[in-house]
Amino acid sequence: MSIRLGIMGYGNLGRGVEVALQDAPDMELVAVFTRRDPSSVKILTENIPVVSVSEVENWKDKIDVMILCGGSATDLPEMTPQYAKMFTVVDSFDTHARIPEHFANVDAAAKAAGTIGVISCGWDPGMFSLMRVYANAILPDGKDYTFWGKGVSQGHSDAIRRIAGVKNAKQYTIPVDSALEAVRSGKNPELTTRQKHTRECFVVLEDGADAAKVEKEIKEMPNYFADYDTTVHFISEEELLTNHAGLAHGGFVFRTGKTGVNKEHNHVIEYSLKLDSNPEFTTSVLVCIARAAYRMRQEGQTGCKTILDIPPAYLSPVSGEELRAHML
Ligand code: NAP
Repeated sequence: MSIRLGIMGYGNLGRGVEVALQDAPDMELVAVFTRRDPSSVKILTENIPVVSVSEVENWKDKIDVMILCGGSATDLPEMTPQYAKMFTVVDSFDTHARIPEHFANVDAAAKAAGTIGVISCGWDPGMFSLMRVYANAILPDGKDYTFWGKGVSQGHSDAIRRIAGVKNAKQYTIPVDSALEAVRSGKNPELTTRQKHTRECFVVLEDGADAAKVEKEIKEMPNYFADYDTTVHFISEEELLTNHAGLAHGGFVFRTGKTGVNKEHNHVIEYSLKLDSNPEFTTSVLVCIARAAYRMRQEGQTGCKTILDIPPAYLSPVSGEELRAHML
């Protein structure tokens, strides 16, 4: 019997889950839920209902795992505890500083309802977190480095769009090659924020806006740009839509460490991702996590989990016997 999935929210991730399910023969999409008028939401799969969230409770016994595809800023802090009361859920919550609080809220809801809520899955947090934990456990005497990009940072793009005179904007985070090489060579460099990443902004101005003023405001914006070398390009809306519509992203997680009686041996662990589509990769992770969440629930587990609590074999559609024969 296949695992019955629901998609809650149909933006980039919602669509990505639908795409990822094409390659998951042990799972089936049962319904897509939206806060908008369902007739206005066009999905890829034929004969799958798009349902208003107001009716979600009627689907409690028809869905094994609900993948929550809302935004991290305001949707998921409310959605995940709310829907954990009805379903085993998976989310991609990526506001790192608020993960402990989100965990506590989801844990209380899921334990009370006898469900599982797996939070903060994707690539960062997600696969990068897993790599950091493996690498730290294996090389306790070492140093961690995470680099992001080249890719679009939604948060930084939004921050630029909020500046008066800006019509539209995209911001790329780019790792500095010399910093990557220094880490890769095992030199254990001390790197400042500025030395690790640069920021490149493509900005469309409103008619009559003062470009110099906008550029200054971007470059001096605390937390977002002030600590980075930032380049600002002013372009037309047409150029932005043509050349900067992509959703590519990626990054690197390193741990460099020492072993040996006199710490004479160096080791470099490197995990890198080069993603043509950030949402499609993220949802490929979410779908595997949904499989694991289903299995853990079948075993009687409840409460909030993260990717760190999931045995790797539970992610795979392949049997333990086959994994031992071909993957070990
Ligand atoms: P998005 O496209 O903005 O979608 C978020 C929600 O917006 C949808 O679920 C949808 O819900 C709603 N929405 C309202 N109007 C819409 C419209 N016209 N078109 C599409 N959606 C509309 O966001 P996303 O790119 O899917 O990303 C969601 C979150 O994933 C982000 O906030 C980010 O934090 C997180 N993320 C995490 C990782 C990771 O590695 N952990 C990676 C990438 C992204 P309704 O259908 O209910 O209206």
